[in-house]
Amino acid sequence: MTEIDLRDLLSGPEADPAGRAGYTGHPERVGFFTDTSVCIGCKACEVACKEWNAIPEDGLSLTGMSYDNTQGLGGSTWRHVAFIEQSAVTRAPAPPEPAGAVTPGAEVPHPDGRTELRWLMSSDVCKHCTHAACLDVCPTGSLFRTEFGTVVVQEDICNGCGYCVPACPYGVIEQRPSDGRAFKCTMCYDRLGEGMEPACAKACPTDSIQFGPLDELRERAAGRVEQLREAGVTDARLYGEDPEDGVGGDGAFFLLLDEPEVYGLPPDPVVTTRDLPRMWTHAGVAALSLLGGIATAFLSSPAARRGAGTARTGVFGRGLGR
Ligand code: SF4
Ligand code: SF4
Repeated sequence: MTEIDLRDLLSGPEADPAGRAGYTGHPERVGFFTDTSVCIGCKACEVACKEWNAIPEDGLSLTGMSYDNTQGLGGSTWRHVAFIEQSAVTRAPAPPEPAGAVTPGAEVPHPDGRTELRWLMSSDVCKHCTHAACLDVCPTGSLFRTEFGTVVVQEDICNGCGYCVPACPYGVIEQRPSDGRAFKCTMCYDRLGEGMEPACAKACPTDSIQFGPLDELRERAAGRVEQLREAGVTDARLYGEDPEDGVGGDGAFFLLLDEPEVYGLPPDPVVTTRDLPRMWTHAGVAALSLLGGIATAFLSSPAARRGAGTARTGVFGRGLGR
């Protein structure tokens, strides 16, 4: 029998998450490639997601900092279009080099050579992680891996315990305040079953959201980065596509034009259940030590010694009597 390494199940590269979940003869793993360089911020994806999945409204309050009225992913926002306004100037670092050449805090041209303000727009979504901590910690089986390799939450099974919320390294899944159950993007599981693409990808007029077999998307994305870099967009980079990263690669990955933090994404996410096997080992060793300590204390107690003496006497007594 092949030995299963629990660490492999919880972290590290995993070529076939659906197979690991027990599916045989399953379809190819599918995903999203969101190319933010062509997003125009029209929000058609947000609207299509809301409509198809019958998600309740979540308020229309503007942040006061941008044109973003949904502000982030949540129980009632499964696609969120971030609007980031970037100035053409930046603040001079302190201390300046050579000393005294630039006043710390003064405005200096942006290091990438931009001379104008720019908008970065990006449609964020659940990452459908290869190693999904939300799924690992769910005690009811409400969260499950589909035959397409995606991660789905079933609202009729969720008991609202909320364990999945802090487990997600991206802050994606959320309990809906109105009923307490957890919700997130399902990558339109009902549509995939019918051979259709998810509603957001279908609605996107610029193909910023591309849906398809994950391997094919990774290849396409690498080509697009190369194309942008050749065109002088040196900051273009992929985020979440690497199977060697802390979550074993995302089923929904992105082409970004700046650091992940600029888009509100964690720079180096790690599946939060990665260290569970080590923690269980430590807990087991601690429990055994405790039991050993209790046993030693009991055996060396006067009562135990008296009992042992009586037992010995009893045995010898019986032996002598025969
Ligand atoms: S991004 Fe969060 S909610 Fe989505 S699959 Fe990964 S852990 Fe789960
Ligand atoms: S539909 Fe496409 S272009 Fe419009 S906001 Fe969404 S990702 Fe951007």
